[in-house]
Amino acid sequence: MDMTPDLSDRLALVTGASRGIGREIALQMAALGAHVIAVARTAGGLEELDDEIKAKGGQATLVPLDLTDYDGIDRLGGAIHERWGKLDILVANAGILGPISPIGHVKAKDFEQVMAVNVTATWRMIRTTDPLLRKSDAGRAIIMSSGAAQACKPFWGPYSASKAAVVALARTWAGEAQNSALRVNYVNPGPTRTRMRAQAMPGEDPMTLPGADEIAAKIVPLAGPDVSDTGRLWDAPSLNWCD
Ligand code: NDP
Repeated sequence: MDMTPDLSDRLALVTGASRGIGREIALQMAALGAHVIAVARTAGGLEELDDEIKAKGGQATLVPLDLTDYDGIDRLGGAIHERWGKLDILVANAGILGPISPIGHVKAKDFEQVMAVNVTATWRMIRTTDPLLRKSDAGRAIIMSSGAAQACKPFWGPYSASKAAVVALARTWAGEAQNSALRVNYVNPGPTRTRMRAQAMPGEDPMTLPGADEIAAKIVPLAGPDVSDTGRLWDAPSLNWCD
């Protein structure tokens, strides 16, 4: 796989681009020539990203959106269709950790929020972008999972369940798109120095972890036109397909 694919004139939609891994993926894709559609709730984070992309000669379109505004996802799909008529790359990266708690103590509203952001919004994004990605000559979808989908550690119930569901969506979609140019893969980024990781592991020294820029560099190649694998788990830290 080409570790620095040419993404010139590729259109890439990145969710969760205001900070963490998503922000670094957006920056790196823009540096490789992509026009990045950056989605998140925090307008300030998106504007900083935009400044950084533009300072390096890249291009971005900012979409401040709460992904649980499902109609907003549909509207975004319509706007992409109107303006570009296709999408080349989807990075479904936005996610929340939710409560770390014994499964029987999880509040219903917290469980539902994790499912809304991590699962339903991802499905809505898949549903909205599928026809646009199929219009690309080399559509690429990168779905962010986690080691938690398999590990199912005690107290991580809602998050683990949501990431297992995302894997099921990605694999199903890959199978459906098998005979098209669209490739769909899902990723375990591994422990990464971000706000979410600090929330999950407050006692950990963040400096023992790789930065989001380092991990993003191991995920961006999945967007390359040379990628032929589909429906597979990419273990970013080890740079290996892992299934
Ligand atoms: P961060 O918490 O640093 O970033 C999460 C991003 O998701 C932010 O940009 C946030 O933007 C966005 N987001 C959250 N909720 C919403 C929402 N309702 N609508 C729109 N955007 C939203 O997390 P990471 O960068 O660490 O995580 C990125 C992905 O990687 C996640 O899917 C996570 O599960 C996964 N992952 C991370 C690991 C790690 O060690 N960091 C390990 C394994 C998996 P905003 O708040 O501005 O809306």
